[in-house]
Amino acid sequence: MFWIVCFSSVPSNSRVLMLLGQLERMNGEAMLKDVETARQVTAKILHLIQTQEKSGKEVMSKGSSGMEVILASLEVSSLVNTTGRRVGVFVSKGGTGVLFQLLINASKEFPPSEELMLQLHSLLAKVGPKDRKFGVKARLTGALNVTINLMKQNLLNNKLLLPCLQVLRVYSSNLVNAVSLGKNGVVELMFKIVAPYTVDFVNEQHECETNARRAVDGGFVTVLLALYLDWHRNDTRHRHMLIRKGLLVSLRNITNIKLGRKAFIEADGMRILYNTSTECLPVRTLDLLINTSSLIMRKCFPKNRLPVPTIKSAFHFQLPNVPAAGPVAQLYNQPPGVDDVVDESDDNEEADADTENDTENDDDDKDLLAANDDIETDLNKLHPKRNPGRPLEELRVYERFFLELSEDFQVAKMSILTNRNSSCIALSAKHSPVNSTRHIQSPLLLGGIASRRVGGGGSNFGSDCGSEGTEDEGGEGAVLEVPDTALLLPLHDPDLYVEMVKGTRSVPEYAEVAYPDYFGHVAPTFKEPLLERVYGVQRSKIYQDIERLIHPNDILDKAVYDLDIPSCPVIEDNGESLKFNSQFESGNLRKAVQVRKYEYDLVLNSDVNSNHYHQWFYFEVSGMRVGTVYRFNIINCEKSNSQFNYGMQVLMYSVQEAISGRPRWVRTGADICYYKNHFARSSIAAGGQKGKSYYSMTFSTTFSHKDDVCYFAYHYPYTYSTLKMHLAKLEALRTPQIYLRQDNLCETLGGNGCPLLTITAMPESNSNDHICQFRNRPLIFLSARVHPGETNASWVMKGTLEFLMGTSPLAVSLREGFIFKIVPMLNPDGVINGNHRCSLSGEDLNRQWLNPNPELHPTIYHTKSLLQYLVHMQRTPLVFCDYHGHSRKKNVFMYGCSVKETVWQSNITASSSDLQEDLGYRTLPKILSQIAPAFSMGSCSFVVERSKESTARVVVWREIGVQRSYTMESTLCGCDQGKYKGLQIGTRELEEMGAQFCVSLLRLKRLTGLRNHQHLLDLENDIMTHTKVVRLVKWRILQSHLHTQLMHEGTHML
Ligand SMILES: [Zn+2]
Repeated sequence: MFWIVCFSSVPSNSRVLMLLGQLERMNGEAMLKDVETARQVTAKILHLIQTQEKSGKEVMSKGSSGMEVILASLEVSSLVNTTGRRVGVFVSKGGTGVLFQLLINASKEFPPSEELMLQLHSLLAKVGPKDRKFGVKARLTGALNVTINLMKQNLLNNKLLLPCLQVLRVYSSNLVNAVSLGKNGVVELMFKIVAPYTVDFVNEQHECETNARRAVDGGFVTVLLALYLDWHRNDTRHRHMLIRKGLLVSLRNITNIKLGRKAFIEADGMRILYNTSTECLPVRTLDLLINTSSLIMRKCFPKNRLPVPTIKSAFHFQLPNVPAAGPVAQLYNQPPGVDDVVDESDDNEEADADTENDTENDDDDKDLLAANDDIETDLNKLHPKRNPGRPLEELRVYERFFLELSEDFQVAKMSILTNRNSSCIALSAKHSPVNSTRHIQSPLLLGGIASRRVGGGGSNFGSDCGSEGTEDEGGEGAVLEVPDTALLLPLHDPDLYVEMVKGTRSVPEYAEVAYPDYFGHVAPTFKEPLLERVYGVQRSKIYQDIERLIHPNDILDKAVYDLDIPSCPVIEDNGESLKFNSQFESGNLRKAVQVRKYEYDLVLNSDVNSNHYHQWFYFEVSGMRVGTVYRFNIINCEKSNSQFNYGMQVLMYSVQEAISGRPRWVRTGADICYYKNHFARSSIAAGGQKGKSYYSMTFSTTFSHKDDVCYFAYHYPYTYSTLKMHLAKLEALRTPQIYLRQDNLCETLGGNGCPLLTITAMPESNSNDHICQFRNRPLIFLSARVHPGETNASWVMKGTLEFLMGTSPLAVSLREGFIFKIVPMLNPDGVINGNHRCSLSGEDLNRQWLNPNPELHPTIYHTKSLLQYLVHMQRTPLVFCDYHGHSRKKNVFMYGCSVKETVWQSNITASSSDLQEDLGYRTLPKILSQIAPAFSMGSCSFVVERSKESTARVVVWREIGVQRSYTMESTLCGCDQGKYKGLQIGTRELEEMGAQFCVSLLRLKRLTGLRNHQHLLDLENDIMTHTKVVRLVKWRILQSHLHTQLMHEGTHML
């Protein structure tokens, strides 16, 4: 039809125009039928154009519609290109040559007609791929250069540039052309064109946003995608990676703005990039393209809502008083109906400044930068200012926790001591491990009920069913023999554990016991190396996530466990889904959603009275199939990176394995990775920032036993009931020479006791000298587990306690040399309720030391008071150490406090008198680095940070005046130095660390000698000189902060 309209205007007085008319009269069908005629006509036109300038002009002249005829005939041909036959025919008749000639002629006009150039290039882009000689012809006719020059002259003309780019792509499929294009600076040209959209986003945010907006308005996204797809299909030998990458980078930058992301979605960008990337996957050299593609897709992935009604913890605890400015008031004072899961309006224009390789190093750099901002620069605050705080009259009540300082031992000492056993620890007197095995009901044959009800009536899991003849208790003969873990584990006793659970008070009032806590954990004897990351894991996981969008019909989206509904757990007995449970001490799974047949999204509960802190997890799974690979995704993680990306695996406990005599947590999981996901994080959850996402921790695993009950945990669980059991068992290790007292320091908000231990040696005799020596022993003050998610701290503490109660000569010397005051669990409520970070007040207790509230932070308030009491009694501890776990670093290390090292790290100027400082704070970590294989001096820091001014370490240093005040951080992951290099950390290594800590105190004692501090200083410097050479070598290799430490030490060694 278009055909006929054009025809009417063709003058008939020239040969070329006649031929054109003839060509025109042949409609598309005719051209196909009478190909020979068409060929002849085309050839004649071509000949005339090539030989007679006049003919060319006639075709091109304004009055003539010759151009339109040819273009229209091409248009018709290419419209019907389902088979490509018409284009093929046109090509075979020399049509390409005609087009090139027209292009050359048109280029001679000044300026060339933009409309014509546009049409010609659009057609060439369509015809080109059908003509095997297209590239050669383009080069020989000079069309190649015409296109390049045209582009160079029209760098800002998107409309014209895009078809040119497409043609250029076809030209370059010819190898000679590709080389020649490269020589002619075409790659540079490409980048000049896409440059406005490839400006580094972070550096040129404003400029880039403007360009991105312009690009979206110009419909550039669709064209870029088409171009990319075109290159993807045709650059089969991957010679033009740079151009393809350039196109993606443009898309990446355009999609930094919301408008761009919208345009990308509308242009079906997700599917296009998903499909092209999937095709690229087998070719390793295309990684750059795949990585950039996935970056774009992740950015544009529509944000999903976390599948929960609110991000506030599923459990609420009524506080005795709620400070108006506190976090709980803020949490619950939101007007009803406010959705805290996603932001109401998604109008954020902010884009995540993603990097393509979020490596550990990047992260550390960020940490370092942040750390530099955080250094305390106020010299007044830097100098320890002893602040005894409460008046002595008030503190006198704490005298009862220091009976060893006043007792006279004239009466029968043992009876005094045993009577002083705190009320919070109930000793199990009746337990005697007579049988080597005990019978328990199998949970497995009882319909998969995984845990036992304790307390209440009926059959009690904890009752000793060790006697024979209990087979019928389980019904259907459901009894299995279980090795008595009490025999395998000196400090474990299942019966005692259940006794302890009965006295543990949780907010949800748990009535079940998890098997691992009941059976106990025997550390495996095999090594558990850091998991080597398989290449491309994160990518394939992300692609599986994107598939949820591409193939929505494959997604089940079935909630199988949901704490937010009263009937939880949601049990469906069709055998198609796993069963989940975490309603036991330290459990914290909120929801499990079956996404695909063998894939589950898991949502962790927030700490009680808070709406975040998701990291720790502990849950139970049953109803599994043997040998099937299951994928689990914890979808509401918050930290930007995790050791799960660097070799750490999750822990799994199999009840079947336990029953078979292997009661243990083992590192497990393949394809583990941690990455930013597509679940929106509301500004309420992200500290006011909009447009943030959660992170996924994903792992895959298979189960080896049918009808098993398995548990997964972030780290080796250590419940409050476990602590109470261990403390009770410690009593059994007491000898007449050991002074062990267990007190209840206070009651927590949740109504649980906070144990305080005193360990030392009994005085040698009742003589005044010996009593005097006994009372004057230096004090060591230890605490742990202020952060409930850091269970490793409890295992280290267990090692310390066991060592201190041991019979080794070292332990004897330690007890004779020191009085140990130990609060092994500063946050029992947090531990019991499955919190990661907080207590029931919804606050981090290790940020409350400056001004602890007796009602809201009782354990901190009273622990600090103990220390204040000691200051009044002029018995300031020699060492204070709070045990923690570190989720981002490997090895074990310490943080201490030093004015000098803090000043050194900052820019503040200080007088030399400000820098007078005893180096004693370095001794203990130094000794540890020599004797404890997991300990790394290089990771230690002695800088006082502003953000840490209310932590135990800083407050005990500054206010209590303990020079050796530390946090000891143990990795959750593993070691990258020393004897355990390349291995994940286990409870054996953690307990060893706790024991080595004690040994280091003994060395410290030897150095402190007769408490002559000058003498001590010399000795400490002595120790350091031993390692001088090693350190100097390191000095040359390492820089920055280690450098500072060395400079510092160097001056003292001279
Ligand atoms: Zn911590």
